[in-house]
Amino acid sequence: MRDKGDVTDLEGCLSIPGYVADITRRERVWVEAQDRHGRVYKFSEHGYIARAVQHELDHLKGKLYIDYLDSLDQLIAVTGDEDGGEIDPESPEGKRAKRAARAAEAHSH
Ligand SMILES: [Zn+2]
Repeated sequence: MRDKGDVTDLEGCLSIPGYVADITRRERVWVEAQDRHGRVYKFSEHGYIARAVQHELDHLKGKLYIDYLDSLDQLIAVTGDEDGGEIDPESPEGKRAKRAARAAEAHSH
């Protein structure tokens, strides 16, 4: 795998339900892989899909995104709808929580 550029965005994982964190990944990746018949193929991705590729390749190595954190305090709890009203959605915390909820929703594997 080749890679290029750094980009930081919120990332979540079904292995760590209810939390996301800001993780820096490469913006673009070039991958050479084999399908289940052993045939070699290549692809390149950027942005969100490149992030997902790196996330999943880490899983193959037994690595989780939290391994990149200096402290588990950097985890951001994804607030459910049921406790709405506690955080002002227009405040910086509220906007962060909304972004976190969207990131958690988008991630599935
Ligand atoms: Zn995952």
